[in-house]
Amino acid sequence: MIKLENIERRYASDEVETTALVDVNLEVAEGEFLAIMGPSGCGKSTLLNTLGTIDRPTSGHYWFGDQDLAAMGEQALAKFRAAQLGFVFQSFNLIDELTIEENIALGLAYRKDVSGNKAERVAAAMDTVSIAHRARHFPHQLSGGQQQRAAIARAIVGQPRLILADEPTGNLDTANGEQVMDILTALNAGGATIVMVTHSPSHADMAKRRIDMLDGRIVASAMRAI
Ligand code: ADP
Ligand code: ADP
Repeated sequence: MIKLENIERRYASDEVETTALVDVNLEVAEGEFLAIMGPSGCGKSTLLNTLGTIDRPTSGHYWFGDQDLAAMGEQALAKFRAAQLGFVFQSFNLIDELTIEENIALGLAYRKDVSGNKAERVAAAMDTVSIAHRARHFPHQLSGGQQQRAAIARAIVGQPRLILADEPTGNLDTANGEQVMDILTALNAGGATIVMVTHSPSHADMAKRRIDMLDGRIVASAMRAI
């Protein structure tokens, strides 16, 4: 489904040049659950943002199916993101002024292609993450775990082909982190393709494959032993 070829990402400033990604080659198959690990500053977020097309590689190719996204214009990319990707962030990124169900509906806001009853889709997404009892609440009225579950519902309501999660359990306690991991695992079992950055070895072990990064490179790749 996805193939990154010889991806480089350099940040240039006046005096220093940082290379965040060096010759990265990565394939992600449909239905995978991939964890990305590595020390702070090794390029994990840059890699995830590259997959999310919110960061552009300096050089290389990003094949999504038969399209090279590295060569695509901004407008086409925005449309691609809305239709194909779901994002989950460490800090939830819900909009404080909107209720939980309104936040989740934002996942369909730029989807002219979605037909049918949007309210039903939102209700189904809320059921998937067990947040329906908080539909009319505002984000600040919810615990962190509840907010992250709502953020996952927003990410999946449009039925994206790829879910990108950047440290989704990083701001949660152990119990809530495990609940979020259980939801991601269940989504993957239902066919969702997931790429997740994590600092937690035990959460990485719940993925089907793990890659380790160091200084902008992928230095190891391992399938989970079953
Ligand atoms: P990680 O997610 O593993 O902590 P990042 O992908 O955030 O790593 O960063 C990789 C490298 O790129 C780091 O050296 C970081 O300082 C650098 N970097 C990230 N974003 C920028 C930026 N906007 N400008 C300059 N350097 C950056
Ligand atoms: P869950 O929906 O995760 O199963 P519960 O509904 O069983 O959680 O209980 C958690 C309760 O604690 C919720 O009513 C939630 O709104 C409340 N709560 C937790 N943290 C906060 C917080 N920081 N501010 C307001 N309410 C909170």
